[in-house]
Amino acid sequence: MNPRALRQRLESLEAAGVTQIPKASGRGLRPETVAAPAPQRPAVAPLPHTEIAKSAAANVTDRAPALRVLAEQVSGCTRCPDLAAARAHTVFGVGRPDARICFFGEAPGADEDASGEPFVGRAGQLLTKIIEACRLRREDVYILNVLKCRPPGNRAPLPDEVANCRGYFERQFELIAPEYICCLGTSAAQALLQTGEPIGRLRKRWFSYGAAKVICTYHPSYLLRNPAAKRDVWDDMRAMMADMGVEL
Ligand code: URA
Repeated sequence: MNPRALRQRLESLEAAGVTQIPKASGRGLRPETVAAPAPQRPAVAPLPHTEIAKSAAANVTDRAPALRVLAEQVSGCTRCPDLAAARAHTVFGVGRPDARICFFGEAPGADEDASGEPFVGRAGQLLTKIIEACRLRREDVYILNVLKCRPPGNRAPLPDEVANCRGYFERQFELIAPEYICCLGTSAAQALLQTGEPIGRLRKRWFSYGAAKVICTYHPSYLLRNPAAKRDVWDDMRAMMADMGVEL
């Protein structure tokens, strides 16, 4: 591995929380096959941690290391050679390994590529406000994307790229075992549900992904361009939280 690629890989691992790397065994690690967020709303205190944490804590201790191993595999991935060559960091995901809710986005942008963390740019700041309007904190949920590498010019993921990353995001969902997955925008909803239906027709319906209930809403980037759609997103968030027993 050349020095630039090695540095990128180490920085991606650090961003994903990997602080120790086991000695090489000679066998190598392989992928396992693999609305309105109401800025006008008064600030409300986040729900007490106990109300939103999973009641059954079984296996929680296993999830974090398994996610770290997966993050390490992702950091070395070259399945999409163009994306791998251009990235500064892979962007694996962030949040509680035992989160009840996963927010599922499309792909890293420039800010995420630079930092290694999903949803940290303008769209990310809006997502954080949406999460907080749900009386949650960013660190209470888990945030991940379909693609772990930034597509050039922030274009939508190509079908091959989604296929290459599918094993990674599916494994993330398997390990986290969330009760709810909130798909942000068309790419995430279509990738998870393996459908060609547009986001407008996927909203206001419940889907299943394994044991998780899936809800689809507009992507925060869309809200930055179309602020009127914040009302719809707020409706979607209220529906999800009401299903969890939290009235907003
Ligand atoms: N948009 C996404 O879909 N994901 C990010 O991480 C940032 C912007």
